[in-house]
Amino acid sequence: MSESPAPVPEPLLRMTLREDQDVFVVRQRGREVAAALGMEHQDQVRVATALSEIGRHAIGAMVTFTAEVSGRLRLVIVVEADGIGISPPEGTAAAGRLMDEVHVERDRISLMRRLPAQVGQERLAAAREELAASRPTTALDELSVQNRQLVSALEEVQAHRDELLTLNAELEETNRGVMALYTQLSEELEQTNQGVVALYAELDERSAQLREANEAKSRFLANVSHELRAPVTAIIGLTRLLLDPRSEPLTADQTHQLDLVQGSAADLLARVNDLLDLAKAESNRIEPNWAPVDLSAVFGQLRGTLRPLAKPGVRFEVADPAEPVELVTDEVLLTQILRNLLTNALKFTDAGSVAMGALVRDGRLHIAVADTGIGIPFAEQRRVFEEFHQVRGAHQAGGTGLGLPYARRLATLLGGGLSMVSEPGEGSTFTLDLPLRPAPEDDQDLPHVRAVLVVDDEAAARQALREHLTGIAEHVHEAADARSALAIAMRERPSLIFLDLRMPGGDGGELIAALAGVPELSGVPVVVVTGADVGHVPGAAAVLGKSALTRRMIADVVARVTT
Ligand code: ADP
Repeated sequence: MSESPAPVPEPLLRMTLREDQDVFVVRQRGREVAAALGMEHQDQVRVATALSEIGRHAIGAMVTFTAEVSGRLRLVIVVEADGIGISPPEGTAAAGRLMDEVHVERDRISLMRRLPAQVGQERLAAAREELAASRPTTALDELSVQNRQLVSALEEVQAHRDELLTLNAELEETNRGVMALYTQLSEELEQTNQGVVALYAELDERSAQLREANEAKSRFLANVSHELRAPVTAIIGLTRLLLDPRSEPLTADQTHQLDLVQGSAADLLARVNDLLDLAKAESNRIEPNWAPVDLSAVFGQLRGTLRPLAKPGVRFEVADPAEPVELVTDEVLLTQILRNLLTNALKFTDAGSVAMGALVRDGRLHIAVADTGIGIPFAEQRRVFEEFHQVRGAHQAGGTGLGLPYARRLATLLGGGLSMVSEPGEGSTFTLDLPLRPAPEDDQDLPHVRAVLVVDDEAAARQALREHLTGIAEHVHEAADARSALAIAMRERPSLIFLDLRMPGGDGGELIAALAGVPELSGVPVVVVTGADVGHVPGAAAVLGKSALTRRMIADVVARVTT
């Protein structure tokens, strides 16, 4: 059984536009139909206006109003006339904006507008009745209705405009609030920023002060120990002379006393040397001498030389590595570290054992020195690596408190570290870990400057600096005296100047003064490199000792004075 097509709904109203006046009628009818179907006031005006727009240019057309309530809920108005769609009336475009859909066909134009949801058969029947009862009014009546609608539309527009004004005012108010908030926030941000900047400036200043203080300390240590060494060496020499069998004979008492003097002097010299070592390590004046190292040989030597220090009843074991270790490091520095650890262990162990062993793990060498001695109180453990720190207590033997800081410093120089675990009364274990070979020198770490001027009367010294500066300075210019230095500096505008203090025919200090007097050169930092023991040189950005210069020291000083 085939489905019958949906029945075409019975029209609500039908009329013909016979003359111009009927345009008012169709307008009025359109509004009445829309009202009868429950459409809102605005929609009624839309329908009426769309109809009058088309109707004005469609005299002779038949207009049919139909309401579809099954399926799509809509009002359909059809304007029919022969060939009306071939050149659609001018108002069609306007009608298109007022209605939901407008279809133009050859002989008809259909206008569609959706109906309110509640329209059903009942409402339709009521509308039909209502419309049948109403009679078309005159054009004049419709005109007055139209005017009233116009007025109310105008009022509505005015209301919209007022509303818009209020909204705008509110928006402006909000904007002002947001702006005020924004200003306040950015002020606060600026203040915070200023605070942060000041904090950083202070931090920079503090770290510069700290660095200077540290350098001053190292310089002081180096100078003092240097100064002390000569008289102590003299005391040792003189005592030896007095004790010499070929000298005047001494009483037994005198000999004994001189032995004591000699022993103390030797002790003093050892400590002064410790100081000097540490000062050197701290100012980066020790450059590891990398070479393959036979670890068994190092262990063997330590075993032999330190065995006599073990107290009676203390087992001293230095175990050779289980398998051969291929190690590239500085043998002298490594030996110093291990001797230091073993000497401490033997010193602080009265019973049990002192043992050293090595193993390779994760590509690093770990050497442990373990003892069963007095141990280190927990409160002191962090501090034993500080300079001059000694644990207070009854077992305290003489020392300087410099051994461990020095050992740790050397371990760092070798690319490793030194750590400790200790249990008071049970013993301590110090572990040195080292890379199996030095890390490849990372040139990215090096500072870079355009041009450097090296001023020194000795060609060898200039050459040494030139070598250290490869990879750091793009150009290295040399001058052998102060006068040519000034000329070259004017021409090449170096980023910094390395300057020897003592040169024939002009002191380095004078060159510093001369540079300061030339506006283009007064900002160029000068690093004094000197053999003389001078602490501070006026006008110099830094002072380096000429003897043990290393590439690392040069890199550090360049980075420091050029940033
Ligand atoms: P010192 O020259 O006085 O030995 P160190 O820097 O070598 O200086 O050691 C600092 C302090 O750490 C020592 O005075 C000692 O109290 C403590 N210490 C170092 N090694 C050991 C150890 N193996 N056992 C117990 N105490 C130790």
